[in-house]
Amino acid sequence: MKEKILEMEEYAAEHNVPIIEKKSIAFIMKFIKDNNIKNVLEIGSAIGYSTILMASSKDDVYVTTIERDETRYMECLKNVKACGLDKKINVVYQDALDVNLSNDLKFDLIFIDAAKGQYTKFFEKFKYFLSDNGFIITDNVKFHGYVGRSDELEKGNLKSLVKKIEGYIDFLKNNGEFDTKFYDVGDGLSISVRKNEE
Ligand code: SAH
Ligand code: MG
Repeated sequence: MKEKILEMEEYAAEHNVPIIEKKSIAFIMKFIKDNNIKNVLEIGSAIGYSTILMASSKDDVYVTTIERDETRYMECLKNVKACGLDKKINVVYQDALDVNLSNDLKFDLIFIDAAKGQYTKFFEKFKYFLSDNGFIITDNVKFHGYVGRSDELEKGNLKSLVKKIEGYIDFLKNNGEFDTKFYDVGDGLSISVRKNEE
């Protein structure tokens, strides 16, 4: 398993796959244990790196993960099998915005880590699949330190992407339904929970 993880890190570096930072996944694995998370939904599997580490963070945790890129999906399946985790991980090959999940599925943790420009859409679609006291964790909310500094960037794809992430952060900060905390770990993580009804 350790070998396989190292191999995946090398593959990601070689093929420019943006896998999560080590500090961030360590933070999430601890979070899964501390909060006794049992069911995780991940948006954006890539090659299965974060998926496999989340699934191995404790015995009774199961991960459903969605990936739209065929090559990465195949690589993910292969890695999940190689780690002997196919009973704990369900890999779905589809665009997350087109996926139809059964209405009675509920997840204790939803991990958003797919197209950064669509974060708000993912949040709005998948919040209905969160269990009562569930958490939504989002990765890359700092986006290499550009977030909050989009005005300094030249017009172009990077600027418009950073602006979208800034829009997502505003959406979280001004959300009537969820409270969000931001963590300066790795490329920036946020954790959102439903507000208490009082
Ligand atoms: N969570 C992974 C990294 C994911 S990288 C890890 O840390 O190991 C983001 C992935 O999301 C890419 O592989 C990309 O193909 C996928 N993706 C982007 N938009 C998507 C969408 N709308 N639906 C499904 N997958 C998407
Ligand atoms: Mg990420």
